[in-house]
Amino acid sequence: MLEDKNQERTSLEKLGEFGLIEHLTKNLPVHQKSTEKGIGDDAAVLDFQNQKTLISTDLLVEGVHFDLSYMPLKHLGYKAVMVNLSDIYAMNARATQITVSIAVSNRFPLEAIEALYDGITLACKNHKVDLIGGDTTSSTTGLLISITAIGKADESNIIYRSGAKPNDLLVVSGDLGGAYMGLQVLEREKEVFKVNPNSQPDLEPYSYIVERQLKPEARKDISGLLQVLGVQPTSMIDISDGLSSEILHLCKNSEVGCNLYEDKIPLDPTVISSCEEFKIDSTMVALSGGEDYELLFTVDQKDFDKIKGNPNLSIIGHMTDASEGSHLITRGNTKIPLTAQGWNSFQS
Ligand code: ADP
Ligand code: MG
Repeated sequence: MLEDKNQERTSLEKLGEFGLIEHLTKNLPVHQKSTEKGIGDDAAVLDFQNQKTLISTDLLVEGVHFDLSYMPLKHLGYKAVMVNLSDIYAMNARATQITVSIAVSNRFPLEAIEALYDGITLACKNHKVDLIGGDTTSSTTGLLISITAIGKADESNIIYRSGAKPNDLLVVSGDLGGAYMGLQVLEREKEVFKVNPNSQPDLEPYSYIVERQLKPEARKDISGLLQVLGVQPTSMIDISDGLSSEILHLCKNSEVGCNLYEDKIPLDPTVISSCEEFKIDSTMVALSGGEDYELLFTVDQKDFDKIKGNPNLSIIGHMTDASEGSHLITRGNTKIPLTAQGWNSFQS
């Protein structure tokens, strides 16, 4: 529905693979000193001197991870990069380079792939990351994007999922559930549009949650914020699948339990109002919605005063002995076991 029917269509066949790569990657700026050689040879060359190198990769498949009927390609490019940078930030590292590999069917004109790369280059610019290579091939049906993010960190700064201790505080950045509720709004508009193609959706009241779905921002800022506060988390993970499943990852890797307090879960007012409208429980949305790309981490109790009251951070619970298990303490003070009902790409 967001497609412009009058836009130009230059066929990819006319350009050829090398023409396309050259067209997409000409004049790319270099932001990082560690990028010795980017695009243009058989391999890129990086130099991190005495720092550790971090690598994370993600594969996005049309129809499984994204739906182009409401996801504009520029947003898709931006989001695909954010998803990867978020994994580097979740290690408390700095993102420095990415590679981008795509498989495209000839259903896509050059202009569509340009839009995708506009989003990718904007993400690189905003996060000072260099695009240093990739691969381009054809696909018989949909679009496939694989991005690898590279980062660096001093060894002593890297934070794993495995460092949480009983009594550590559980902290989350930003607010939760927005991306999932944004998806609900977009799915609803898609159905309306199928029935009446002339309908003009008014998404203005939902702009915050729609943006959380279409244009998420990886939390590059949290590492610096924690440094300023003088806090070194004991464990950390990013929230891609929903709070509940990420808490269980921390618990499993750190061999601890957790008490999560329902009334402490940060929710934007738009999430609360849209949950009422869609008759969905907002706690369920935060626990299982996913795609928020916030950071979830644990800190020692002694850091309570440094975190308390910070507008970017919410203390939502504390870790326990593993034998106590992982629970949600509801507003009514009942204790419910946390289950991983996070978004799962193998569920139909
Ligand atoms: P090779 O045949 O050795 O794999 P390619 O012709 O595929 O080389 O790639 C040439 C250069 O362009 C390489 O530096 C490669 O990393 C880069 N490249 C290829 N496809 C992409 C892409 N989709 N995005 C960014 N860089 C790319
Ligand atoms: Mg190649």
